[in-house]
Amino acid sequence: MAQKKENIVMFPFMAQGHINPFLALALRIEKTKKFTITFVNTPLNIKKLRSFLPSNSSIHLLEIPFNSSDHDLPPNSENMDSLPYHFLINLFQASLSFKPHFRKLISNLIQEKNGQKPVCIISDMFLGWCEEIAQEFGIFHAIFLGGGGFGFACYYSLWVNLPHRSTDSEEFVLPDFPEASLFHVTQMTDFLRSADGSDSYSSFLRKTLSQWSKADGILFNTVEEIDKLGLTYFRRKFGRQVCPIGPVLLTPGSQARSRRDFGISPEECKNWLDKKPSCSVIYVSFGSMNTISASQMMQLAMALEGCGKNFIWVVRPPLGFDINSEFRANEWLPEGFEEKIKVSGRGLLVHKWAPQVEILSHKSLSAFLSHCGWNSVLESLSHGVPMIGWPVAAEQFYNVKLLEDMIGVCVEVARGKRSEVFHEDIVEKIKLVMNESEKGKEMREKALQIKEIIDNAIKDEENFKGSSMEAMDQFLNAALKLRGEDKGKIHGAPS
Ligand code: UDP
Repeated sequence: MAQKKENIVMFPFMAQGHINPFLALALRIEKTKKFTITFVNTPLNIKKLRSFLPSNSSIHLLEIPFNSSDHDLPPNSENMDSLPYHFLINLFQASLSFKPHFRKLISNLIQEKNGQKPVCIISDMFLGWCEEIAQEFGIFHAIFLGGGGFGFACYYSLWVNLPHRSTDSEEFVLPDFPEASLFHVTQMTDFLRSADGSDSYSSFLRKTLSQWSKADGILFNTVEEIDKLGLTYFRRKFGRQVCPIGPVLLTPGSQARSRRDFGISPEECKNWLDKKPSCSVIYVSFGSMNTISASQMMQLAMALEGCGKNFIWVVRPPLGFDINSEFRANEWLPEGFEEKIKVSGRGLLVHKWAPQVEILSHKSLSAFLSHCGWNSVLESLSHGVPMIGWPVAAEQFYNVKLLEDMIGVCVEVARGKRSEVFHEDIVEKIKLVMNESEKGKEMREKALQIKEIIDNAIKDEENFKGSSMEAMDQFLNAALKLRGEDKGKIHGAPS
């Protein structure tokens, strides 16, 4: 008789940058054929996922009831993708209302399986309270961070300690992470910079971050060999399983199915890139939900025009405008910019959404000017593409620090959405990375070495298992081992 599969419950926060890595992880676990997966989210996100999952997928989608209007959110808003950034706090607070529904959902799942509990709950970094439900039912609980070890170690330490509050200096070290060296106040979002421990962001984040320490394990979408320092921080801090299992990424095909608003088809994009010489194009994108100010946008356009390189730029309305509204090139770009680049064939403006992985994997690509969201970082490094960093939010500032100071595959060009930038400086950085300068060559070579390390980490061959695949096995084995055991036993054993 075939052995009954154990069930894993997965619950990401309602933002595409969180749902996508969870989905990629679910698809990877599904591939092992050893587990069933229950994927939980709000109704509209589940609806979208339903149309996206391949018809033969065994992933079971379950809804948590949610009405955005009950939480001072616009009607039918269940995903940060479709919301201006300032609504993030509403979505955070709304997520706290899921607790009784999630408890009921777990209880129903157990009843349906004649008393058999899920082997594990994997929840989002912002849904720390899931730990309490897992605890109630005696279920192994892990947090999956779609980000990297270093970026999140800095993010965690900054929010928990608010070190900038205890100094008059603009520079400071992290009290529990001095190895990360100096930080500058410009490497913080406005929310973090003004946080004093009692504001709504601090209250939510500090509570949810403190819940991480109670999880049985933390999964990171990263690779041990390139991100050791940050992972060491969490191992030291929590003494729990800290498992680097990345990169866990959606394939280009599945990414395409998750979006309907491509500004250009992957084929058209490929045709354009095919016509360009090898290693001659810079790709510019600020991720799925961020944008820059109107004046920064103008300077960036001038830089792309002035640097003489081929480029693909994903454009969205600047700060202060609805990110999903029509792009007004006449207003936000230098006069005649769009026509000029069309005629010269040197640049491609993509509205809203580009097939990023296809672009990064093309041989014509040379560099990626990115906000350094972690998915973008992994996608770039998986294809050996060096980066030009322009962090704007969350832990992106610390991702750039890791990439530039510790790995050597990135140069930072600007910080934040409001800072003053000059097109001459952007041109200089673009040339530094793309030209045959000593530094440029060094970065490109390093990026190729990192690509090899990443390829190895996810190898799963008869005679060789990469570090990320090993870490995933260890994690799943620990969850299986817990069945019938006292949860406390494994807490003392950091990996
Ligand atoms: N992305 C894309 N096309 C775009 C913009 C973004 O395919 O035009 C994808 C990108 O490949 C990545 C994700 O969206 O997988 C963005 O995630 P990331 O962590 O880089 O940034 P976030 O959007 O969460 O800030």
